[in-house]
Amino acid sequence: MNPLRLLVNGSRGRMGQTIIACAKADPEVAIAAAVDQGDDFNSALKLADAVIDFSHHDVTESVACACAADKKLLIIGTTGHTDAQVARIAEAAQLIPIVFAPNFSVGVNTLFWLTRKAAEILGTDFDLEVVEMHHKLKKDAPSGTAKRLVEILAAVRSLNYNEDTRHGRFGIVGERKTSEIGVHAIRGGDVVGDHTVIFAAQGERVELTHKASSRETFARGSIRAAKWGATRPPGLYDMQDVLGLK
Ligand code: NAD
Repeated sequence: MNPLRLLVNGSRGRMGQTIIACAKADPEVAIAAAVDQGDDFNSALKLADAVIDFSHHDVTESVACACAADKKLLIIGTTGHTDAQVARIAEAAQLIPIVFAPNFSVGVNTLFWLTRKAAEILGTDFDLEVVEMHHKLKKDAPSGTAKRLVEILAAVRSLNYNEDTRHGRFGIVGERKTSEIGVHAIRGGDVVGDHTVIFAAQGERVELTHKASSRETFARGSIRAAKWGATRPPGLYDMQDVLGLK
C-alpha cells in the first residue's frame, strides 16, 4: 500500500518538527510537503492526501477552506480558536473529514474519559477546579486541553462554559459558588503540558493528573488520526472518535 502523503502546516514549529521526525520513522506515511509562514500552501496541497495543522489559530480557517475545496483530509492540532473560527471549521467538515482535537495524546484522552466518569460518580457535592501548566512560550490560555476538560465537567453538571468558568482569582472575590468551575493557567520553563482536575468536597479530594514529558505523544497521535481519518466520510471528529472512546 502507498504511504499516506502528509502536508505539515507549521512545519518549523515545535510540533511541526516533531511530527516530521515521527513521520520519517513510520512507513505508513510520507512527508509530501512542509509548509510554514510565507510558503505557498495551495501549491503544496496538490502533493498531499492529508494536512496536519499545528500552526496558529488565525490560520486554520483558510487551511480548512483550501482542504475543503481540494477534498483533502484535515487534522487540526492548533488551539486557541474563537467560537466563530470553530464554527467555520465545522462548516468545512460538511465537505471533508476533519479530526480536530485540543490534545492528541492517548493519556489525555483517557483523562477526558475519566473526568466525565468521576464527575458523574462524585456529583454536585464536589467543587471543580482545573489547573494546567505549560512552557513559557505558549501563546493561548487556558490551554485547549483545559478548555475541553471544563467543557466535559460543564456538560455533566449542566453548566455553561462561558458563564460558569472562573479564570483565576484575584482580590476580594467572595466565597466560591457551587456552580463555579475554576481554571488556572501556569506558565514557565519548558513544561510540555500538565493538567490536573480537582474534585474537592468536605473531608476528601480527588485529583486526576496527566503530565506530558515529550511532544512525540501528540505527534504520533496526530499521525494515527490521519491514518484513521483517511477512510472516513466527511464530518467533524476528535481523538475520542479515533480511539473509540465514545
Ligand atoms: P510553535 O510556535 O513552535 O509553532 C507554530 C508554527 O506555526 C511556527 O513555526 C510558525 O511560524 C507557524 N505559522 C505561523 N503562521 C503560519 C502560517 N500562516 N502558515 C503556516 N505556518 C504558520 O508552536 P507549537 O508549540 O508547535 O504549537 C502549535 C499549535 O499547536 C499551538 O496552537 C499549540 O497550542 C498546539 N498544540 C496542540 C497539541 C495537540 O495535541 N492538539 C499539542 C501541542 C501543541
